Amino acid sequence: EAKKKGRGCYEVFSEAMGDILRQRRVVEADLRKALEKGDELQLFYQPIYTNSGVMTGAEALLRWNHPVHGGMSPVFLIAIAEEAGMIMQLGDWILREACRMTANLNLLWISVNVSAMQLRDEHFADRCLAIINEMQVAPERIQIEVTETVLIENRDLAVATFKKLRASGVRVAIDDFGTGYSSMSYLQNYPVDSLKIDRSFIQALSDNEEGRAIVGAMVEMARALKLNVVAEGVETVDQRDMLSAMGCGTMQGYLFSRPLKAHQFVQFSQEETALRA
Ligand code: C2E
Ligand code: MG
Ligand code: MG
Ligand code: MG
Repeated sequence: EAKKKGRGCYEVFSEAMGDILRQRRVVEADLRKALEKGDELQLFYQPIYTNSGVMTGAEALLRWNHPVHGGMSPVFLIAIAEEAGMIMQLGDWILREACRMTANLNLLWISVNVSAMQLRDEHFADRCLAIINEMQVAPERIQIEVTETVLIENRDLAVATFKKLRASGVRVAIDDFGTGYSSMSYLQNYPVDSLKIDRSFIQALSDNEEGRAIVGAMVEMARALKLNVVAEGVETVDQRDMLSAMGCGTMQGYLFSRPLKAHQFVQFSQEETALRA
């Protein structure tokens, strides 16, 4: 009886697995087509502000409007691209698209997310610099964002890659800061420009004294290490004011703007510039 039940479970399980695998393969094939045609894939742009309210740049965020499945999480998309061996091609497309966007913007820089697997390629820095050069963009107008966990994986390669990029003027930010395990000693001498404090810590700001103490310590540490600090996922005026009082220089979140479609972002940034002129 138990044996029978066990087998039944296994069958249900393997059927579900089969569905997932089939679905993955369909998505994979579709992604390959989308990359070739380049019309279903899009970058959205989320403005980034100084604490005095000036837009300084934007983060590029991948979107895929799949004809059948609709909007798909970029996290899922990137995972599929990594598994299917398409991440380098997709990464190149993303960087090229971001470079193209800078031409429409007055002095603003664009921050581009880079996946763990992209960073494992020892030629990654050369690859990026070649695209930036080919697109005739000033390297200072491109920043790359790397999640904190990637740094622990292969420190020497990451350090070499960041040094090369920064020597050419490209800036480097550590994304989702606080969710990995980088200790103070890890950060010391790390060749990066900014820390982006993960949204979960910003949410905890309003909870209690402890939540505020942690963010305060992160801001202090960044200052001591002479790094720029960015708060991710700022949603309320309260959070903004607390961060400002702590000396957090830069912020990003729904309070300021959601990620915008390319043409909306261009219009938005022109309006912002006009306001300041
Ligand atoms: P991330 O780099 O940490 O990006 C920030 C995420 O937070 C984005 O989600 C953004 O839409 C969202 N966000 C921004 N402000 C707020 C806010 O105030 N409240 C809330 N609740 N969310 C906010 P998204 O676009 O879904 O991207 C998720 C993750 O997918 C990104 O996290 C990044 O790790 C990855 N990703 C997105 N685009 C790319 C890409 O072009 N390349 C790579 N490698 N990864 C990407
Ligand atoms: Mg990011
Ligand atoms: Mg982030
Ligand atoms: Mg995050």
